Amino acid sequence: MRRALDTMRRVALDIVYPPHCLACGCATEASNGLCGACWRGIQFIERPFCDRLGTPFHHDLGDGLLSPEAIAHPPVFRRARAVALYDDGPARRLVHRLKYGDRVEVAGLLGRWLARAASDLLGEAPVIVPMPLHRERLWRRQFNQAALLADELAQVSGLTSDAFLLDRVKSTTPQVGLSRAQRAANVQGAFKVPPSADLRGRTVLLVDDVLTTGATANAASRALLRGGAKGVDLAVFARVAGTGEIAI
Ligand SMILES: [Zn+2]
Repeated sequence: MRRALDTMRRVALDIVYPPHCLACGCATEASNGLCGACWRGIQFIERPFCDRLGTPFHHDLGDGLLSPEAIAHPPVFRRARAVALYDDGPARRLVHRLKYGDRVEVAGLLGRWLARAASDLLGEAPVIVPMPLHRERLWRRQFNQAALLADELAQVSGLTSDAFLLDRVKSTTPQVGLSRAQRAANVQGAFKVPPSADLRGRTVLLVDDVLTTGATANAASRALLRGGAKGVDLAVFARVAGTGEIAI
């Protein structure tokens, strides 16, 4: 009886909201997925990749290797993992839909992908912390897309997500077009662990939708470490390859 009702409900929903691709919106056979073209268009990041930055290597030279970028500019966070490369294709459309479209469905899909991409960061049972938005921006947008992802990841992985462990206390201008030093200066002091948060001895998995230059993630990681965290790792849906001189 219950199953029959579920089926009826699903059929009714499919009539009202026909299954569509979560990236491009075209009609699909099943709900909450992608069409074939979008699926093929996403550049999923697979091993081998840099152990610190998670950036893909073109050749497999063995595990635990670091990229020249990670050696020249070591990040504040320990390791970063990303589901896919950010490009002008379906990855960008999914990020936009997470912000402005089918939020819950897209967050569900990306959260499941994130759990897979960040699987080697989940072993220490970290507390999941979404990259915070400044209060003014949160007020304008009404919700934080990183928090949606963090909640989905927590649900899939059986961990806890806590958006109250990190505050964004400074509103920052977009990082596009700034030099490495300017980007770091722009986000300096932008984050703070509130006095009520107790991070001592805890490992944090910071979650964001897109990683561009790493300057924001570094500033947030620095604040978390200052707030007592034992270590900070980073999980994002998409990361920009190269210098990050690209508008999101
Ligand atoms: Zn599509």
